[in-house]
Amino acid sequence: MIMLEGAIAIVKEFSTVFKGLTMPRDTYPYPEKRREYAPRFRGKHMLAKDTDGHELCVGCGLCEAVCPAHAIRVVAQEAPSDKPVSWTSRYAVDFEVDMIRCIFCGMCEEACPTNAIQLTPFNELAAYNRLNMIADKEELLRPARQR
Ligand code: SF4
Ligand code: SF4
Repeated sequence: MIMLEGAIAIVKEFSTVFKGLTMPRDTYPYPEKRREYAPRFRGKHMLAKDTDGHELCVGCGLCEAVCPAHAIRVVAQEAPSDKPVSWTSRYAVDFEVDMIRCIFCGMCEEACPTNAIQLTPFNELAAYNRLNMIADKEELLRPARQR
């Protein structure tokens, strides 16, 4: 009798295991498959250029002022007249976004008068070093790897 009860318990346990193996997965086999995000998803920032390759950012500092996490640092200066960088005479010589501080609220994007700063769907933000989580201007002007 005890042996029969033991055998029934084992069969029940195996049936639970097999049921689990055949159930549809709720997880993704990342990185082979990535989940779809809503169009309004806010990931890593980028700094946009116009069709002539000029930077849209004019260094006005509005994004820096509006950021609730103090994650943005902008240093503006006059562009040399013989070498236009942005579409106006002013541009951001230095621009940083601290991805650790950022809460991805999107207020910088909303405040920007030139649509220069934009939040992209890129969300793979990881680094071995905290300093590498600060995106500088060069990085922000480069297209993100995953878009
Ligand atoms: S998304 Fe929000 S928290 Fe992040 S940099 Fe922009 S304003 Fe700051
Ligand atoms: S990204 Fe936009 S809001 Fe920020 S400094 Fe440049 S122009 Fe101004």
